[in-house]
Amino acid sequence: MTEVTKEQVLAELKRIAAPDGRGNIVSAGLVTDIVINEGQVMFALNVDPQHLKTMEQLQVFVQKAIAALPGVKKATVALTAERAPTREVGPKVSSTQTLKNGVPGVKHLIAVASGKGGVGKSTTAINLALALKSLGLRVGVLDADVYGPSMPKLFGLHGKPEASDATGKRMKPMQRFGVEVASIGFLVDEDTPMIWRGPMVMSALTQLLREVAWSEMDVMVIDMPPGTGDAQLTLAQQTPLSGAVIVSTPQDLALIDARKGINMFKKVNVPLLGIIENMSYFICDKCNKRHEIFGHGGAKAEAARLGVPFLGEVPLDLKLRERSDSGEPIVATEPDSPHTLNYQNMARQVWASLEGGALTKPAPNIVFEN
Ligand code: ADP
Repeated sequence: MTEVTKEQVLAELKRIAAPDGRGNIVSAGLVTDIVINEGQVMFALNVDPQHLKTMEQLQVFVQKAIAALPGVKKATVALTAERAPTREVGPKVSSTQTLKNGVPGVKHLIAVASGKGGVGKSTTAINLALALKSLGLRVGVLDADVYGPSMPKLFGLHGKPEASDATGKRMKPMQRFGVEVASIGFLVDEDTPMIWRGPMVMSALTQLLREVAWSEMDVMVIDMPPGTGDAQLTLAQQTPLSGAVIVSTPQDLALIDARKGINMFKKVNVPLLGIIENMSYFICDKCNKRHEIFGHGGAKAEAARLGVPFLGEVPLDLKLRERSDSGEPIVATEPDSPHTLNYQNMARQVWASLEGGALTKPAPNIVFEN
């Protein structure tokens, strides 16, 4: 059987009327990029959250129509509330539409973001979340890094989440170190092509926020997908965030990216809780000297220039990496280490910004020694 082409899929979609009766769903701009992979056809329909019911019916109809085309092995049609980023972005108007009153029982949603990948965003997110927890707060972690969901691994969690009730409509969050965890990796197949991931991130995140049986909590830390593309902008715009933390390495290039990240949140009026400089310097275990391999201090200077709080710096440390990668995050497993105190310091500042100085215990002086 020859594989169906994009043109054939489009032709079929053009035969389906748009819900408002004006033209078809393609001309109405409802259909996102179509991805075809070995007979598997995937795309999303842009949804106006106010008409979710109609759109769900349309989704089923469209999926059936495409699945019936010759050369189609499987059709996957998702709903997305993504909007074109060229649209004017204003004060959280669309977030109130998508996730109206935030997430019931969750006091603050905060994003941990980075302008590019590989700077230690996820490592920072998990340790910051655990540090918030260690301060006595109720904490959850939502892994929204659709390009490389790593929270289950960093938490040392295996398997899939269980259904929370007999209907199977909601799932239980997973739990470790007293923190509730859910990952976009539970919803996105590992084989899903990268190009398809951006458009589906908002609907997957909305699903995780709404359909996971989260407990009441003070802070939910969202590990964002790295970068500042359309998908990230949509997330920043449509999620009712209390604030964002930007992670950057001291390298110039990363800082330029970090600045883009900062601008993205500014543009959609999400408060910036601060910048964390990761892999800031390195203490050699042989000579015990501090090596500033990436030209340390860049993020601090940049934060001051941009008027964004500088939360602190995290050294490059093999132990941090080993702990993180083996599912034993340092804050949970070494509560008295200087790293833990460092993350707790940053967590205190974050919470103080969120709540106006509710946790004001004086911060200890932290000395890293090897
Ligand atoms: P991102 O989420 O930005 O892609 P990760 O948190 O996955 O980055 O980190 C990338 C790699 O760098 C991981 O192997 C992680 O363990 C390691 N890493 C992150 N921060 C540090 C650090 N401060 N010291 C040593 N290794 C680190």
